[in-house]
Amino acid sequence: MKIVIIGLSAAGLSALETVLRVAPEAEITAVSEENRQPYCRCLLTQYLGREVGQDFMAIRNTDHYPKNVTWLLGETGPADRPGAKKP
Ligand SMILES: Cc1cc2nc3c(=O)[nH]c(=O)nc-3n(C[C@H](O)[C@H](O)[C@H](O)COP(=O)(O)OP(=O)(O)OC[C@H]3O[C@@H](n4cnc5c(N)ncnc54)[C@H](O)[C@@H]3O)c2cc1C
Repeated sequence: MKIVIIGLSAAGLSALETVLRVAPEAEITAVSEENRQPYCRCLLTQYLGREVGQDFMAIRNTDHYPKNVTWLLGETGPADRPGAKKP
């Protein structure tokens, strides 16, 4: 099974971890347009206020995941979503 996950914040990482749980052998490609490790948006104000550093904001480092996950950081996946209304 091949799966592509686009966006690696709360929803994307939750989807990724669910796939790894139910289909641990799946070939997963994880795409984020942000060229950085997944981070917690909730801490953005503290980061901008210099109360916390980047390390503290990490949700999970990509090293945490198994080798069947391919990371494409700084890449943009298709913007169209199934069922999305066209303008
Ligand atoms: C300052 C701040 C404080 C917050 N505090 C709280 C809090 O205290 N409690 C709480 O519950 N929530 C809080 N939130 C909200 C919480 O951060 C969001 O609900 C959560 O981040 C939503 O996660 P998400 O994965 O759905 O979307 P997002 O976090 O928006 O992530 C989507 C990701 O997908 C990427 N992406 C989108 N389209 C593409 C594409 N085509 N190709 C590649 N990548 C793509 C985006 O760049 C982004 O990285 C806060 C948000 C902010 C900004």
